[in-house]
Amino acid sequence: MLQKPLARCVCAWNSPHFSLSRERNALLVSFSLSGAILCFSTKSLNPKKLSLSARRATTREVSTANQDKETSPLLGTMDTLVRYITGKSRATEVAHAVWQHIVQRGDTAIDATCGNGFDTLALLKMVSDESRNGCVLGLDVQQSALDSTSSLLNQSVDPIQKEQVKLFLMCHSRMQDVVPKGKSIRLIAFNLGYLPRGDKTVTTVPETTFQALQSATEILDSGGLISIIAYVGHPGGREEWEAVQALISTLPTCTWVCSKFEVLNRPKSPILALLFKK
Ligand code: SAH
Repeated sequence: MLQKPLARCVCAWNSPHFSLSRERNALLVSFSLSGAILCFSTKSLNPKKLSLSARRATTREVSTANQDKETSPLLGTMDTLVRYITGKSRATEVAHAVWQHIVQRGDTAIDATCGNGFDTLALLKMVSDESRNGCVLGLDVQQSALDSTSSLLNQSVDPIQKEQVKLFLMCHSRMQDVVPKGKSIRLIAFNLGYLPRGDKTVTTVPETTFQALQSATEILDSGGLISIIAYVGHPGGREEWEAVQALISTLPTCTWVCSKFEVLNRPKSPILALLFKK
């Protein structure tokens, strides 16, 4: 019933949902408020005969509208942003929600710091497609991190989907070496610092992070995003963030839009930087 949306808009308050769609030869307007879904349909597509009739949504319409809500990235992002602002979601969740607006099935993305593989998995779900063009290139300097990523993928996706991820034991400052010829890169994710539950002495460091970011800005396709989560609570973390910021400040405004999310009254909270290439 709601399969051919002509237009859809989302109210930016909690979960009200409004949609306009075509139903045979009439227009169907449905919206949900506090869980109830109401439909209004016009008698005809002819503007001269527009008159509205209202009825309760059928069970199928309720289920389709709820599916739309689950698959609409904008609704998800809005919720995640509000939960971040109210202290209920983390910077990584905000990052994943934004990625969904940039990455499409069939794209190539890079996870520059695989760690335990949560970002690799999130990216794989966004790029994987039936024709298997989509690809995630995952890098880490620790074999234990790549093993951990690999086992998360084994638990979460089928072996065919897993083939769309290529893991490399190497420093992200050489990320350009692993990009297949002719592939454009839609998203590059950095989750800096040390491997959670791993060796805390192995951390990303300003010099190689700086070089990696420089490469990232060059290989990223136009319309793509570099996503950086920096941790400032461990030794060297603040200096690393300052190196990252120094590089960001050199990016020309004609090509780049750079934003930052930070919880101001928690000085050690992670910082999310999003660099969009126009
Ligand atoms: N994204 C991960 C967390 C990353 S933790 C997750 O979702 O779980 C940071 C990771 O960066 C660690 O695994 C560490 O080994 C890796 N790392 C440190 N220096 C690196 C470098 N120069 N190149 C690539 N990875 C590096």
